[in-house]
Amino acid sequence: MDIIELKSLDAYYGNKKILNNINMKIKKNKITAIIGPSGCGKSTLLAALNRMLEENGGSTQGEIKFDGKNILSYSKDDMRKRIGIVFQKPAPFPMSIYKNLTYAPMYYGIQNRKKLDEIVENKLKVSGLFEEVKKDLNMSALRLSGGQQQRLCIARALTVEPEVLMLDEPCSALDVKNTANIEEMLLKLSENYTIIIVTHNLQQAKRISDYTAFILDGELVEYDETETIFNAPRDKKTREYIEGIYG
Ligand code: ADP
Repeated sequence: MDIIELKSLDAYYGNKKILNNINMKIKKNKITAIIGPSGCGKSTLLAALNRMLEENGGSTQGEIKFDGKNILSYSKDDMRKRIGIVFQKPAPFPMSIYKNLTYAPMYYGIQNRKKLDEIVENKLKVSGLFEEVKKDLNMSALRLSGGQQQRLCIARALTVEPEVLMLDEPCSALDVKNTANIEEMLLKLSENYTIIIVTHNLQQAKRISDYTAFILDGELVEYDETETIFNAPRDKKTREYIEGIYG
C-alpha cells in the first residue's frame, strides 16, 4: 500500500528550481532510501513532504498526497505530527531526557503524568536507550554521547506517533557501532512505521532499505526495489553513481 504519492512535483527556493517533475509512490511500512550527490535535492524533497519547505522559504508545484489526500488539506501542525523528521546532527533540546520526550506530547495536549511517563518509557525502549538512561531521566540530554543523542532524537520524533519517520543522514556523525545500533532500530521500526532515509552511505541504503530512489540534479533518475537499483539498475547514471564514478 502507498502512503505518499508525489505527482509531477517541482520544488523551488525563490526562482531556483531544485526538484523537477518528481513522480514517486512511497510504500507504507517499508524503508525507502534516497541517494544522490550532495546538493541534488534530497533534503528539499524531505522538507516538501511535511510542509517544512514553505517555512524555509521554498515552494512547490504539482501534488503530494498523503493517505490519499493532498498535503495542503492538512494543517502544517498535523503534517509535522504525521511525518516526523530527524536530522544529521543530533540536536536534543537543552533540557532533561524526560522533558525532551514529553515536550511534543504536551504541546499536542497530553497532560496526564502517568500517560507521559508511559510515553517516555516506551519510546526509550523502542530506541534501545531505556536501560542506559532509566536512572538518569532528569539528566540533561546534552550529557549523552553522540550516538545516544541521536537515538534520543529518534525516540523524541516517535513520541507523537507519526506514521512516517524521515531521517536526513542520521548516521553521518556516528561511528560504526552507533550506526549499527541505529540501523537495527530502523529495521525494527519499519514493522510499524514508514521510514524514509536520506543517506550518503550506499552500503547503508543497501543494508536496510526496501526501495531506493536515486536523485541527480533535481531529477528522479531511477526508483525501484533496492536490490534492482544496486544489482541491475536500468539507467547508466545510476550505475555510474553506484560504482562511485561521481558524487
Ligand atoms: P541535498 O540534500 O541533496 O544535499 P539540498 O536539498 O540540501 O540537497 O539542496 C538542493 C539545492 O537547494 C542546493 O543547490 C542548495 O544550495 C539549495 N538550497 C537548499 N536549502 C536552501 C535554502 N534554504 N535557500 C535557498 N537554497 C537552498
